[in-house]
Amino acid sequence: MCFIRTLLLVTLLVLGGCAERASNTPTLSHTELSSSLETPTSPSRNPRIVFLDVGQGDSALVQFTNGQTMLIDGGETDQGRGLVARLRQRGVRQLDWVVASHAHSDHIGGLIQVLREFPVREVWDSGFRHDSPVYLDYLRAVRSARTPDGGRPKFRVVKRGERLQVGSEAVVEVLAPSQPYLTGTRSDPNNNSIVMRLQFGSVRVLFTGDMEREQRTRLYREGVNLRAEVLKVAHHGAHNGTDPTFLSRVQPKVAVISCGRNNRYGHPHRETLQALQRAGVKIYRTDLQGEVQIEIAGKQLRVATARKAPNVAEMRSPTERTRLIGNRNSKVYHAPDCPRLPRKENQVFFSSRQQAEAQGYRPHAECLGE
Ligand SMILES: [Zn+2]
Ligand SMILES: [Zn+2]
Repeated sequence: MCFIRTLLLVTLLVLGGCAERASNTPTLSHTELSSSLETPTSPSRNPRIVFLDVGQGDSALVQFTNGQTMLIDGGETDQGRGLVARLRQRGVRQLDWVVASHAHSDHIGGLIQVLREFPVREVWDSGFRHDSPVYLDYLRAVRSARTPDGGRPKFRVVKRGERLQVGSEAVVEVLAPSQPYLTGTRSDPNNNSIVMRLQFGSVRVLFTGDMEREQRTRLYREGVNLRAEVLKVAHHGAHNGTDPTFLSRVQPKVAVISCGRNNRYGHPHRETLQALQRAGVKIYRTDLQGEVQIEIAGKQLRVATARKAPNVAEMRSPTERTRLIGNRNSKVYHAPDCPRLPRKENQVFFSSRQQAEAQGYRPHAECLGE
């Protein structure tokens, strides 16, 4: 993994007036500067949220101004070493909170190395167990982890309603999961993800893990306030992670999609990008722009990315550039690089998942599910 020493593009987003008002029109201005954020970074007077580039997966570091740190997810296991090195470069010496949004390997894999190498005060877990070797390795790493004073980190299963005040500036609210856990959904681990909102003055940042439709619906039904200026887009931009209703409840100004370049799931999906664009949300993507840092300076969001925003053609979803391939007989459709494509004579092509599903086709779990 090659480390990004300089974050090149800085975008300033000013949130006008009171953040509660719907008429809140942000003024966007792009300033290109070679602002060297070489590490170890000097302590900032402003809180920072850094969406780390862990390929196909999620990992975000929150640096509070009182010096405390929270790491939310850690990408796949093979990202662990690079992640540890990147955290050190950023001046991290210990982690106050490590949050495992849910038990999938693209969220907890890299945390195993992190737990071995950094003193950790608390680990937050969704409590929704998953019988996978990676989850068991992560639990073992939690058990052998150490706090800064040599004790054992607290392992906390968090649930809706919990609040944490960090210094005088920030509040962390847990919005999900709640009991009883959702079961029988497309992906129960995804639908019991830890969903959290961090509030820094009038700026709120919503972390959604890999939440899908069922978990969103429950949050609506139970009247949970989801408003946030910054949205970590759920499930790497998958079509089941975002829809216009959700965006109308969150009303984000900025969205960050964490996914790997040319990943096999086709993330982010076209439907998600379109919904975000229609809602007027400024999109940042780790697959195209690398690490994305958001610094919160009062009502101003200072966004810096490791690489410049690519041209519009590249910002499109991979599913827009590549066709989906269906099998006439089984009515299953595949990503174009799936190793189990149907024979040529049985192939039928679609330009989107919606189109395939409208014709009664379902996605192949191996290449398009999770
Ligand atoms: Zn995931
Ligand atoms: Zn997942």
